[in-house]
Amino acid sequence: MSHGRKFFVGGNWKMNGDKKSLGELINTMNAGKVNADTEVVCGAPSIYIDFARQKLDSKFAVAAQNCYKVPSGAFTGEISPAMIKDCGATWVILGHSERRHIFGESDELIGQKVAHALSEGIGVIGCIGEKLDHREAGITEKVVNEQTKAIADNVKDWSKVVLAYEPVWAIGTGKSATPQQAQEVHIKLRDWLKTHVSEEVAKSVRIIYGGSVTGATCKELASQPDIDGFLVGGASMKKEFIDIINAKQ
Ligand code: PGA
Repeated sequence: MSHGRKFFVGGNWKMNGDKKSLGELINTMNAGKVNADTEVVCGAPSIYIDFARQKLDSKFAVAAQNCYKVPSGAFTGEISPAMIKDCGATWVILGHSERRHIFGESDELIGQKVAHALSEGIGVIGCIGEKLDHREAGITEKVVNEQTKAIADNVKDWSKVVLAYEPVWAIGTGKSATPQQAQEVHIKLRDWLKTHVSEEVAKSVRIIYGGSVTGATCKELASQPDIDGFLVGGASMKKEFIDIINAKQ
């Protein structure tokens, strides 16, 4: 870990589980030994945020997987940061590739959500990442920089923001980026932050990697100087999540 950046591991349960299976997962997690130098956040489906917060040990924070851009109103099906806070969660995942590509969320909407969540005091895990055709066309840097700009333009206090680099081609495919591929993008993101935000933010913000992280791949990824943790989907619902949490030696 460089520049005092605390290792950060988020689990993203997506639209999976029920009270029985999540209760069992939570029992396993509560019993696991967790490195005190690591911050761990579990992204629960919105209907189970309250349940997760009540059952999870206090060494784990809870995140929502999405929220809307205003405090309340006639927005059927949406949840607000105020509601997330009211249920004891302290983080929200925004701009996840499934929100962008299945539900058509734009950079502009994601930026508005980021601004509103931060104004309510909720931490933001802001996700960015290129599709396979972007990578093959050599425009990965351009794509992730644009997505980062849409988030950065809406951030005043960077201490409440974690950037998650998640190449779309690596999410849920079993095909993780190599440690070198991830490191290369992370260092470029830090350069972008240095130029467009500040040197201090570039040094202090945590940039985590997501996309098919497993117990088997986490240690080598975690050894890269600019990888400050993970956002984990599938493996966050398995016992190996504890190994991923403790990946940083
Ligand atoms: P995965 O998902 O670990 O299952 O690839 C990562 C994510 O969507 O955050």
